[in-house]
Amino acid sequence: MRTWTTQDGLPHGSVNHITQDQQGYIWIASWRGPVRFNGRFFEVIGKDAQLPDVGTLFITNDPHTKNLVATGARGGISYFNGESWQPKPPVANRVDFALFDTAGRSWFATLDAGVTLEDADGNRQQFTTADGLPINAVIHIMQDSHGRIWLGTTEGAVLYNEESNRFEPIAGVTDGNVFGIIETTDGRILLSSDKQIFVSDARRIDFSPWPVTYPSTITELHEDNQQQVWIGTHEDGLTRFDDEPPQMTDTSKGLPNNHILSLFSDRENNLWVGTHGGLVQFRKALLHTHTKADGLGFSYVRTVIELPDKSILAGGLGGLSVIDGEASEPYATSVPVHRQSILSLMMTADNTLYVGTFTNGIYVLRDEQLVAHYDETSGFPGYDVRKIIHASDNKIYAATLQGLMVADRHTDGTLSNPRYYTVADGLPDEIIYTVHEDRNQQIWIGSMHGISRLDRETDRIIPVDTRSFTDAQIIFGIQEDNTHVWFATDRGILAWEHARKRWDTLNSLHGLPFDTFFDVAIDQQGNLWLGSPSGLIYAPRNQVEAIFAQALNTIDYQYFTESQGLAGAQLNPGGPSVYRAGDGSIWLATAKGVGHFKPSDLRTLYPVPPPVVISDVLVDGNRLFEGQQIDPFTNRIRFNYAGLGYQHPEGISYRARLNGYDKEWIDRQDRLDVEYTDLPPGHYSLEVQAAYPGSGWSDSATFSFTKTPALYQRPLVWLIIGLLILAGIFAAVRWRLRALSRTRNHLETLVEEQTRTLSKLANQDSLTGLANRRAFDWRLHQSVEQQEHAPQPMALVIMDLDHFKQVNDLYLHTTGDQVLKRIADEISHSARDSDLLARWGGEEFALLLSGDSAASAEQICERLRKNITETDFSDLAPDLAITASFGLAFYQQHETAANFVRRADKALYAAKHAGRNRVKIAPAS
Ligand code: GH3
Ligand code: MG
Ligand code: MG
Repeated sequence: MRTWTTQDGLPHGSVNHITQDQQGYIWIASWRGPVRFNGRFFEVIGKDAQLPDVGTLFITNDPHTKNLVATGARGGISYFNGESWQPKPPVANRVDFALFDTAGRSWFATLDAGVTLEDADGNRQQFTTADGLPINAVIHIMQDSHGRIWLGTTEGAVLYNEESNRFEPIAGVTDGNVFGIIETTDGRILLSSDKQIFVSDARRIDFSPWPVTYPSTITELHEDNQQQVWIGTHEDGLTRFDDEPPQMTDTSKGLPNNHILSLFSDRENNLWVGTHGGLVQFRKALLHTHTKADGLGFSYVRTVIELPDKSILAGGLGGLSVIDGEASEPYATSVPVHRQSILSLMMTADNTLYVGTFTNGIYVLRDEQLVAHYDETSGFPGYDVRKIIHASDNKIYAATLQGLMVADRHTDGTLSNPRYYTVADGLPDEIIYTVHEDRNQQIWIGSMHGISRLDRETDRIIPVDTRSFTDAQIIFGIQEDNTHVWFATDRGILAWEHARKRWDTLNSLHGLPFDTFFDVAIDQQGNLWLGSPSGLIYAPRNQVEAIFAQALNTIDYQYFTESQGLAGAQLNPGGPSVYRAGDGSIWLATAKGVGHFKPSDLRTLYPVPPPVVISDVLVDGNRLFEGQQIDPFTNRIRFNYAGLGYQHPEGISYRARLNGYDKEWIDRQDRLDVEYTDLPPGHYSLEVQAAYPGSGWSDSATFSFTKTPALYQRPLVWLIIGLLILAGIFAAVRWRLRALSRTRNHLETLVEEQTRTLSKLANQDSLTGLANRRAFDWRLHQSVEQQEHAPQPMALVIMDLDHFKQVNDLYLHTTGDQVLKRIADEISHSARDSDLLARWGGEEFALLLSGDSAASAEQICERLRKNITETDFSDLAPDLAITASFGLAFYQQHETAANFVRRADKALYAAKHAGRNRVKIAPAS
């Protein structure tokens, strides 16, 4: 029995109703609302939801919608869709009970408005006293296997008549509070009315009262999965229908409250009891403990054996007790042995009981009567008699603190001639814990320093050298089966195989949780039961053999402690302390009573794994739903899960694997959550599995989600960015090229212009705008060359201004320049018909004339001379007057340009010489 009250997290003490949903959660209807229980934590679900009323009175599964339905104190009806509660239109008043019948109809029992019937289309019909109800307070509804609807009211039960659409009274049943109407698996209808139960065959309704009256009003009837009918009462707790007279399980037996409100059996066959003061669970424990309170008389048990009448004799700190069925009672109370601290027990084939004690030697009993008592006064061991055997040589051997005792045994059970094997006989030490004779009459001795054998021929002790395969020192217990002698030691189990004469070991290296074992028992299937200071280990034989054959590394054992029904997990050393009875039962000497395991329960050893659910998923604290995406900047994702097994919730272990991230299962032990941080983007699915010890793993609960990549984490984005960059570069290059080409065009234009200007400048005199000497020379040479192909008259005039130096001297240089410009203008006017006029030097000009103008060259020169003389410079200087001298040469056939110039120059010189302001013609030469 386990109980939960408000101190254990139960939101409200009153457990109005109990059910289990499709997933496996246990739900409780409580005054604080619907409460969900995963075996570890209670949680009010829908506290803030739109539940029409806070108090929940009833909760059940609607078989049609598969939804949970909760009914409340103000007539509210709500459906749970897996996430939240959805209200339905309320009915008239508080609903204590609801039923979903096989015809798809819903029935709601109200407290003062009769019963509400809702058909599959949602149409409602109210049945009250006008429709045959004895009263409008309806407290129970039941549909039997024949489809009949039964109502329990506070004033008796009625049956629904489909034809008349009315309710009819039931004969043979008294009119009390009918809280319970059930149909049992064996085909009976049980109906409670106040303190009475009425029973009828389900096929033919004919009730008769059950001849038991219960101490208070029956509030619940329930048949569990083992077809046991339970009866809950208003003031006196719980009892079983089969118990006559009723044996009430009430507060005196640990029930938190005697007012039973609800009874429920879950899928693991645990019985749940809702009381007015807490929740109770009865689970079928694999082990049962006979305790001091059950009549054992003492708690600290060291040894157990079976008596010839199949009862079990237990010895310990407080004497001897015998267990027969469920009952225990002190044994041999008339003999002083019952006050002793017992270490060992042994019953011979002639029913003589030898009792080894802690401080008072050995007692010999027959039929609970003392035959003899031996202690140190008669040469027998006085204390610490840890094991006694009756060997094939009819001698009694005992493990003592003084070595191995051997004594002669007589037909009346008495002993004589005690003597001891000691270190002098070859024992490694004299602290002997156990002794055993095997099938080959070999005596094995377990002591503080190892295993020894008695060599009967030499009467010497031969220590067994076990150092090559174990460092076991203390040998606590020895047992034997068909193939092996088994040794329980401080380093696990040693096994001596008769046939192959070889040793094997089983210890923590093979996965056992610890190494110290006080005793071992072999059950009828050859499986090993190992008693340790911290509990009982069950080792399946096939696994043990596989370990020995080195075909298996780790043993899949079962570990039994308090949660499997041991009153205390500490098993004690004693001779023997783990014991197999004739019926195959295993009996255990523990510090808190005698443990008992029935082999018929062996099939439940490996239970079905609990279903596992992922209850919620939180992303940085926010709820995430299946299939949703989480954004790239989330950091932490946490999964809460639970194995919905209620047989042993604390023993459930878990493993999880995030597909897409974990390659292997991650062992979560008993943790109910797993968390991941900084997951890379991707698709994931979390798998969780649960297992009871030894059950194998459950199916997976899974939860899938996607973590979206950040923009920068998406390949497409990278592609687009790359393309954009490329396009940008392309555009920039194109733009640059275009700009360059524009610049080039501009530069080309500039260059052209400049070139034009330059070329102009190159051939032009900047002051006068006339051709310069270079241009004149080039033209002169061309003209001379042309003379070779097409001779024609050609004349060259070189003109020099007279005394121009004085102009500069008398006036400003700029005035000289102005004069030069004006004269140039004058000449170009007057010599319009010349081929070329050029500024020949500083104040010198040249004129090339060809054809007709050459013929009139002399006249042209005279005209020019006259014009210059008459040119007005008064604006520049008042008395300025300019004259010029001219040298004229006519081209002579085949003459070079240079010669042509020289002759004109000579003529100019001549003109100067002749007094200036005149024209001189060069003579032919
Ligand atoms: P003549 O030829 O009659 O013998 O006398 P001249 O004074 O002209 O003699 P010369 O040839 O020795 O001197 C030429 C002068 O002309 C020198 C210089 O002062 C002047 N001259 C030459 N080129 C320029 C010019 O471009 N501008 C100005 N202002 N004066 C110039
Ligand atoms: Mg000159
Ligand atoms: Mg001059």
